[in-house]
Amino acid sequence: MMTERGLLIVLSGPSGVGKGTVREAVFKDPETSFDYSISMTTRLPREGEQDGVDYYFRSREVFEQAIKDGKMLEYAEYVGNYYGTPLEYVEEKLAAGVDIFLEIEVQGAMQVRKAMPEGIFIFLTPPDLSELKNRIIGRGTESMEVVEERMETAKKEIEMMASYDYAVVNDVVANAVQKIKGIVETEHLKTERVIHRYKKMLEGLQ
Ligand code: 5GP
Repeated sequence: MMTERGLLIVLSGPSGVGKGTVREAVFKDPETSFDYSISMTTRLPREGEQDGVDYYFRSREVFEQAIKDGKMLEYAEYVGNYYGTPLEYVEEKLAAGVDIFLEIEVQGAMQVRKAMPEGIFIFLTPPDLSELKNRIIGRGTESMEVVEERMETAKKEIEMMASYDYAVVNDVVANAVQKIKGIVETEHLKTERVIHRYKKMLEGLQ
C-alpha cells in the first residue's frame, strides 16, 4: 500500500490578527487530527510556557548553528528574536502520511512556499483595519507610537494576501476554524492525491 504524503498546512497572516488563538481552536476541535510543528525561538518563555511544548527555547548561538547546518525549513527575525521551523520533524511526518500544521509569520511562510510549494497556504485576515487596530490596542501596554508602528507593519503584511492559496477572515474564531477544516477536507480529495485508491476500478474500465 502506498502511503499518501501528509498535507503541509501553513497558517499565517499579519501580527495581531489572532493566529495563535485560531491555531489553538483548530487543535481543540475534536474533528481535526493534525500534528503541530513546534517552533524554535530565541525569545524567553512567557509565564506558563514550557520548553518542548510551546516552543523549543534556545540561545542565539544554538539557533544560528541550526541555520548554518541547514536544519531549519524557514526562519525569521521578529521583534528582535529568531523564530523558525525545524525541518526534520516536518519531513518525517509528511513522509509518514501525517498532516502537519504550521502557524508562522509572513516572512517565514514565503520561505516555506519556495521550499515546499505543494503546501497549503492560508492567510488569516482581519475583517478590516480598524478591527485590527482595536486588537493591537486591546493587547494592553503598548504606547500609541508602538501601536502605529505595528499597524504600518500589519498593512505591509496584509499586502501579501495574494501570495496565498486561501484567505480566511478571522471575524469569529469558530467560523475561521470551520473554514480551515473545510479547506483541509477539500485538499484531501484532490484527484492527484487519491486517484491511486481507485486504480483497480479505473483499470477495470478497459
Ligand atoms: P510569539 O512570540 O507571540 O509566540 O510569536 C510571535 C510571532 O512569531 C507570531 O506571529 C507567530 O506566528 C510567529 N512564529 C511562531 N513560530 C514561528 C516560526 O517557527 N517561524 C516563523 N517564521 N514565525 C513564527
